Amino acid sequence: MPELPEVETVRRGLAPAMVGARFSRVSLRRANLRFPFPERFSARLEGRTVAGLARRAKYLTADLDSGETLVMHLGMSGRFDVAMPDGSNTSPGDFYLDGAQGTPKHDHVVMAMGNGATVTYNDARRFGFMDLVPTAGLAACRHFAKMGIEPLSADLTGAAIARLFRHRITPLKAALLDQRLIAGLGNIYVCEALHRAGLHPERPAGTLARADGGPTPQARRLAKVIGQVLTEAVAAGGSTLRDYVHPDGSAGAFQQAFRVYDRVGLACRTPGCAGAIVRIVQSGRSTFFCATCQPSAMPVRVLRKRDAGGP
Ligand code: ZN
Repeated sequence: MPELPEVETVRRGLAPAMVGARFSRVSLRRANLRFPFPERFSARLEGRTVAGLARRAKYLTADLDSGETLVMHLGMSGRFDVAMPDGSNTSPGDFYLDGAQGTPKHDHVVMAMGNGATVTYNDARRFGFMDLVPTAGLAACRHFAKMGIEPLSADLTGAAIARLFRHRITPLKAALLDQRLIAGLGNIYVCEALHRAGLHPERPAGTLARADGGPTPQARRLAKVIGQVLTEAVAAGGSTLRDYVHPDGSAGAFQQAFRVYDRVGLACRTPGCAGAIVRIVQSGRSTFFCATCQPSAMPVRVLRKRDAGGP
């Protein structure tokens, strides 16, 4: 599944074809993806110009000169092919492993742009979707109304983490994956950020807030490393997953880039640490961490007692 850095890479790849360009013809090959397309979808796009292409969490948003915004989500397997007028052809952020992706039978939306570019949406599993919502009500629309702060922005600070996590006894990893608190962080980057911050994934989230609600040094550190991890992943072109496993089963560039994810039993990459990466399961998903440089801080039961006014 594409995570935030991959979606940002897709945005950057789509921008030259779409921003400032007019939809000249939009062809739908089926009536729905994960959800039905909006009514008169093609007609509402055709003739309209894309004023800007942005990203919110794992969503792409294209503001149109009609006052509507095209909202796009890649789901599990969505990808775009971009054919430029000069004959170049790219699949920005193409990070999938399964050969089924990219075959023409999964081309569901073909957007011919007035500048000569063609943007094709391909989605083998069809968990992606597209929607049209009024631009003026974008933040309050059903996709974004309950969404937390944007992690790749100035909004993510130690103070914000402390405010969001205060009084929560939920494990730190679960709190970071809660899209209502911080939107767009996925399993891989949460594992990587917790390792860089030296924080145990089962540590109660509320321990990152001081008694007065302000941020602990750990909260500030965590905010900083989340930004670093995401920025590095975007800089890597969102291709971090592309070579994860080659068709012959050998590991690719992915394992060079990540410090804990899917590295169970391997040596910790923190300089001077003699620990090895372990795997636990939290909420049904794998967590990878180093117990040496991510020591457990405070058991949940201790925090519960404290919250209850006990010793
Ligand atoms: Zn370590």
